[in-house]
Amino acid sequence: MEDCIFCKIASGEIPADVVYSDDQVTAFRDLNPQAPTHILVIPRCHIATLNDLQPSDEAVVGRMYGAARDIASAEGLAEAGYRTVMNCNEAGGQTVFHIHLHLLGGRMMHWPPG
Ligand code: AMP
Repeated sequence: MEDCIFCKIASGEIPADVVYSDDQVTAFRDLNPQAPTHILVIPRCHIATLNDLQPSDEAVVGRMYGAARDIASAEGLAEAGYRTVMNCNEAGGQTVFHIHLHLLGGRMMHWPPG
């Protein structure tokens, strides 16, 4: 989608610190990390929010989680643990309207989140 920063990262138009990429998803380090490891896993196709997810998109969301699992393992986070979270719309804290799974690790996570 035109004017979507994450579409531009997925296409390579805007640089990012990419840690994983395949035909369905791309993952890159967050510019403003909230943990020692903070990676965003995004679908290559534009889906604005979780509310916009169609049944036909469910496979790509499964791929996002599979990629997050593999990246967590590659980053050495799997055994200690890590958090995955997807924010939706304003009250959920979403600021970029192309769905993304935050993968956070390398420190103790708190609950409930803020
Ligand atoms: P959210 O608030 O859930 O929409 O998360 C958006 C995330 O994208 C934030 O953690 C930002 O720091 C991150 N972000 C925004 N632009 C970029 C970028 N160009 N490269 C990497 N991370 C970004």
